[in-house]
Amino acid sequence: MKKVLITGAAGFLGSHLSERFLKDGFSVVGMDNYITGSLKNIELLSSYQNFEFIEHDVTKHIEFKGDLDYILHFASPASPIDYLKIPIQTLKVGSLGTHNLLGLAKAKGAVILVASTSEVYGDPLVHPQVESYFGNVNPIGPRGVYDEAKRFQEAITMAYHRFHKLDTKIVRIFNTYGPRMRLNDGRVLPAFIGQALRGEDLTIFGDGEQTRSFCYVDDLIDGIVKLLFGNYNEPVNLGNPDEITINEFAQEILALTNTNQKIVYKPLPENDPLKRRPNIDLALDILGWKPSVSRKIGLQRTYDYFCSLNREELFKKDHQNFEKFNKF
Ligand code: UDP
Repeated sequence: MKKVLITGAAGFLGSHLSERFLKDGFSVVGMDNYITGSLKNIELLSSYQNFEFIEHDVTKHIEFKGDLDYILHFASPASPIDYLKIPIQTLKVGSLGTHNLLGLAKAKGAVILVASTSEVYGDPLVHPQVESYFGNVNPIGPRGVYDEAKRFQEAITMAYHRFHKLDTKIVRIFNTYGPRMRLNDGRVLPAFIGQALRGEDLTIFGDGEQTRSFCYVDDLIDGIVKLLFGNYNEPVNLGNPDEITINEFAQEILALTNTNQKIVYKPLPENDPLKRRPNIDLALDILGWKPSVSRKIGLQRTYDYFCSLNREELFKKDHQNFEKFNKF
């Protein structure tokens, strides 16, 4: 049985990935320090026989006994609100954490895939974003802690590939959504659905004419699995090119939730990208991958998940305890 280590297993994408590999017959070791992850996800994964969990902060040296065939590095705060609250942890997990995991992959002879992001393109001047575009990132802006950590991550991963001949993969993930997102992580989809369910106004930042392109989680996971087992070592965009303005998106959420909440406009956060849409020609070409879940279906599944949460979870402002992590 092949063994895979998944960092960030308590998080949104990490937990979906872990479940996918368990269902596909792998032995999965999940690793997380719960800084933004949820115990509930680990409890769910623990119902699988071949799942093992190690509570550990990957920015610290990783001691791992036994063989490993694959490593997937998905540990990182990923919502703008989170990485503003824990900026140094965000920088460390993308840089020091990635370095530790590359070292572990080298020691074990494992294939490693790291989670990068569309944020490496910053506020893009090329649209849609193609992998060859170098990006337009403000290194010292509020999002710089995430964007630059991920850019460093890509640089060190390619260096390990070129210098140590490590089999590495880099996925540039565009806005992805689905069940198990944290309702209060600050991202637009859980924010709007949470507001609608609580009977609050929907908050649109800026004039709402900025765009995003939302990919359903199952599609993304399929693409990641294909990338891991393929033989392409440079960054690959994965996302859904179906682009929409935030104004249109708010209307879709009102229709989905069958509510008529008021919409209020708030200032646009600094360096918030004005448009984002992946060019996925490369993924189609080398992996034969393209997303298949429409926003209508994906949003309905996600909404059903949020509706299944109890009232306490719905009204909880934020369950994350960042305090203890900000002492270093
Ligand atoms: N946004 C918004 N209202 C919210 C949360 C987010 O209008 O309550 C906007 C945000 O400014 C951005 C877009 O929605 O333009 C997507 O934000 P998100 O945080 O989901 O992800 P990003 O793509 O910016 O990382």
